[in-house]
Amino acid sequence: MSFYLRVWQACDITEISKCLLIVGDVTADCTACRELGIDYQNTPVCPQCGVKFRFITSRNTGRLDANRGGTVKRIKERRPDLTFIDYEDYKDITGKQKAREFFSS
Ligand SMILES: [Zn+2]
Repeated sequence: MSFYLRVWQACDITEISKCLLIVGDVTADCTACRELGIDYQNTPVCPQCGVKFRFITSRNTGRLDANRGGTVKRIKERRPDLTFIDYEDYKDITGKQKAREFFSS
């Protein structure tokens, strides 16, 4: 039987932010240009800025989302070409990065 288990890996957050799709309830957003309403199932390249997506994440995979396993499975089946990263990890790291930039300027 197979389950989803998160694997921790060192990642370049700046690189990820350049080619990440954030899936909401139905559509997705591009982190590079903040374009909204992207059809994540059939969009290899951002229709607005032209970036080729390499990573994907979902807002509905937090600790309190009861069916996060199902959400991960569905998105991974639809986009096996993209690396699925954890949204809370991403928010955490980018939030800390913004705070550091704010206090150092
Ligand atoms: Zn874009």
